Amino acid sequence: MASKRQIFVGGVPIGGGAPVAVQTMTKTETANLEATMEQILEVADAGADIVRVAIPRDDDVQALKTIVKRSPIPVIADIHFNHTLALKSIDAGAHCIRLNPGNIGGREKVAEVAVRASEAGVPMRIGVNSGSLPKHLHALERENPVEALVGAAVEFVAMMESLAFEDFKVSIKSTNVPNTIAANRLLADRIPYPIHLGITEAGTKWSGSLKSAVGLGTLLADGVGDTIRISLSTFHAEEEVKVAWEILKALHLRERGPVLIACPTCGRLQFDMDSVVAEIEARLEAYAEPIEVAVLGCAVNGIGEASHADFGITGAKNEGLIFAHGKPLKKVPQDDLVDALFREIDRSLDRGSVEVDDAKAAEGADWLARIEEENADELTPERIAAMERAAAGTGEAEPFLKPVKPPALDESASPTAGRRFTRA
Ligand code: SF4
Repeated sequence: MASKRQIFVGGVPIGGGAPVAVQTMTKTETANLEATMEQILEVADAGADIVRVAIPRDDDVQALKTIVKRSPIPVIADIHFNHTLALKSIDAGAHCIRLNPGNIGGREKVAEVAVRASEAGVPMRIGVNSGSLPKHLHALERENPVEALVGAAVEFVAMMESLAFEDFKVSIKSTNVPNTIAANRLLADRIPYPIHLGITEAGTKWSGSLKSAVGLGTLLADGVGDTIRISLSTFHAEEEVKVAWEILKALHLRERGPVLIACPTCGRLQFDMDSVVAEIEARLEAYAEPIEVAVLGCAVNGIGEASHADFGITGAKNEGLIFAHGKPLKKVPQDDLVDALFREIDRSLDRGSVEVDDAKAAEGADWLARIEEENADELTPERIAAMERAAAGTGEAEPFLKPVKPPALDESASPTAGRRFTRA
């Protein structure tokens, strides 16, 4: 479950049952103030709660002094090897310091940073990377890399506690997805501190997003992890933020903006789904409301599969249907389908409810019934299910799938229960 302890990075709570915080890291040279600020504004706009900037030089500390004042979200200073840069970053106003105790030059230097951070009320993220474990764990790493990673993290936690510093979160990073999952599960059992999740050097937008979704999604579904960063090989940090949000939205851990659902298409497809879905997805980016919008490639199945959606479209050759909450709203020419959908969305959001014109809705329902009738012989998955239900209900035919009593779903037993949040 979520960590017992909570820390605050700026005003953002991490752990202790707080919403899973989304963070990313700028890709610019931090000393390039204008470029860095531009990227921070972009990632904040995309939904980042926190941003991290690399501080490898004194010039970066200088820029950091201005960045922390101008940034709309808290800023973490990312430090490697040089503890004096951590001290200077605390003085510059960083909201959090990230460092790996294993690569900062010894306990005394970590202690110096802890004292300064404590005086300034600045939390830290202490990390362990699979590539930089302490020497005494190298043999164990060859035998059991997961135990070695967790062992290092637990040792660093003990070191911080012995320094009387407990205002921190912990990260274990590996490029190996199964090891990341196993290590963070173990770590969550062994420490009460908030956990930062990430798959290090995950890869390109495509492969990195998938690895992160599998690794982080598995952990988050277990209730492990309090803040996440998706590491992608792209200069567009806002892409990392979008992927992070998609993972949180998919798990219903947080809500932000619309959810698009679209059928996978098949041989029954009646219009150019690729371009229509892409256009709808792009236009939905302008909306903050958590509406669900469905795109069905044909009307053969009616709108049953998407009846839970707030709005949707389905098409045939020359015409399409706009629907809302499972009910037809109107039939429109194919070329006007997307614009008409957005007119309905805008009007409904302005009014606070969907406006139904009974005559147009009836015309749409007739059109839909005709399409379904014309394709009545199609054995779509929905129709097979309906036949099953009918056969089971009347007892006239032996269903070819025996009804199985579904197990009762216990919502409170879900590992993500109680951790669902809407972003204000
Ligand atoms: S049957 Fe229609 S709605 Fe279902 S996948 Fe095929 S095109 Fe899409």
